[in-house]
Amino acid sequence: MNAPIIGIDLGTTNSEVAVFENGRSRLIRDASGRAIIPSVVGIDDQGRLLVGESAMNQYIGRPEATIRSIKRRMGSTDKISLGGTEYTPQEISAFILRHLKEMAQADLKMAITKAVITVPAYFSDAQRQATREAGEIAGLEVVRMINEPTAAALAYEVGQQGRRHILVFDLGGGTFDVSVVRMEDEIVEVIASTGNNHLGGDDFDQRIGQHLLDYLKEERQFDVEPGTSAHARILRTAESSKRTLSDHPFAKVAEEFLGLKDGVPLHLDREISRDDYEHMIASYVDETLDLVHKALNDAGLNTSDIQEILLVGGSTRTPIIKKRLEDVFGMVPRGEVDPDVCVALGAAIQGAIIGGEKGTAVLVDVTPYTFGTSALGMMNGIWTPFVYVPMIRRNTPIPTSKSEVFFTTYDDQEEVDVRIFQGEHQDASFNIEIGQFMVEGLSRAEEGSPIILKLDLDVSGVLHVTAIEKNTGLSKKITINNALTAREENTLAHARARVDAMFGGALTDDHSDLEAGEDGEDHTEIATAKAVVEKAQGMLEGAADEDREDMINLIEAIHDALKKEDFKEVKSLREQLADILFYMET
Ligand code: AMP
Repeated sequence: MNAPIIGIDLGTTNSEVAVFENGRSRLIRDASGRAIIPSVVGIDDQGRLLVGESAMNQYIGRPEATIRSIKRRMGSTDKISLGGTEYTPQEISAFILRHLKEMAQADLKMAITKAVITVPAYFSDAQRQATREAGEIAGLEVVRMINEPTAAALAYEVGQQGRRHILVFDLGGGTFDVSVVRMEDEIVEVIASTGNNHLGGDDFDQRIGQHLLDYLKEERQFDVEPGTSAHARILRTAESSKRTLSDHPFAKVAEEFLGLKDGVPLHLDREISRDDYEHMIASYVDETLDLVHKALNDAGLNTSDIQEILLVGGSTRTPIIKKRLEDVFGMVPRGEVDPDVCVALGAAIQGAIIGGEKGTAVLVDVTPYTFGTSALGMMNGIWTPFVYVPMIRRNTPIPTSKSEVFFTTYDDQEEVDVRIFQGEHQDASFNIEIGQFMVEGLSRAEEGSPIILKLDLDVSGVLHVTAIEKNTGLSKKITINNALTAREENTLAHARARVDAMFGGALTDDHSDLEAGEDGEDHTEIATAKAVVEKAQGMLEGAADEDREDMINLIEAIHDALKKEDFKEVKSLREQLADILFYMET
């Protein structure tokens, strides 16, 4: 068997190597199971070369003997001093490449001599040439260098469907690149690319870190000096809180013993909400979107010319980024191929194509459906209680866990009706209800009390749903089996869901500006309609086919009238429904 051509993503912060075998692209791991290798090179105090995690670990203690972000200097004539010797950027990069090559050889148990290496689309000829030289110094023939966005497009196999324009949004730890790629008949072309070499997840960490430092200074009168270990711990905890906030609405920050204040140990114990975090990073997110528009402009295209958005780089797991892109383009960006390693997987696919292999998909376990709940909110300008709130989006890799915060809608609310749906429609009642439960015995707090809903979906399709009253910890949990199988639409359940959702102890996903109409008379009509509709629901099953159809139509019509806040119409429809019930009972 010929040795494969490996694919390498030589990144600013991290690097990865992948190989294509048995019809698919696979990431290679080192002896400790790590696939994401920090792009860091160092010399330890014994003069030994360190690459990856070990070099990273010594950075805090020996920054002068550690080199990070060498990619930023590729193509320059800089000399880098390490352990008393001067190196070119190519040579430092070659240490990383050789490490990746050795990982591949150990994994594949054969000599590897050929590689495809990816470079940013904006790299100049000098930078590309330096990368090629780095490969050669590492003992690798660089059979091709491909642009990172091209590699991402290959990983997603988006070229198979005729001529397409793809936007590749790549937000890593320290860099942001956005490219427009045209794909047609195996020809892949980057037609525009822009970005900011100093914008990424590290900036997000800084913002959270600064928020914590400001809190310590202003509220606890405690100054943390840069360069101290307390400072480093705060930045580290900021990064892990950021990751938590990608999947959950709150992150707890707990760092014990940051120092002594007036002789007393000082602990940091604080909660950060996703809302606050999103405000902290808003200017960065805005900047990425401005650059997206610039790339489109440079390509001479509009948002409507883009058929697909691909997410690359670990920081694209930040939900506000996906949401903003979805708002601008009206489509859900794709992120199912692990954004940290998507480029390496695509590079290995390119290697396989050059080697003449067939079958190029990156296979991932994803959910084929979106799961979510319903909440009170605005839909088409009208308040309704069944706005669909997607929580686990279609194509999310599984297993996965996502939570969201909702708020009670009135004072002293004692219970809440939780409904879980499978589907994509913005009106939850058009989706398929797969679970429902009441959380009773809430603490009768003021309107706007937070309730956290958590969905955990595993690969076998079991969905665990937990609702927790944040202030008291009161929780209730249900398990839904076979969540990943297609469900039959059920008209009765459909009508019932609509009606129940209208009247049940609704939640809202936004408590900032909730002001539903509160006219007393209207409330009486709503309550009366509720009673009649509930009664009708109970009688649906036993009704003759014709009556049932009329009843469902009336229930839906009542719903529509309520939506329009047309209480005269509600009254007339409610009376018609009551008539049917009367004749059924006599
Ligand atoms: P990359 O350079 O592509 O490996 O991206 C690394 C960046 O992604 C770092 O700033 C990480 O903190 C960030 N990152 C990784 N996982 C997440 C996550 N779940 N949510 C937000 N950022 C993340």
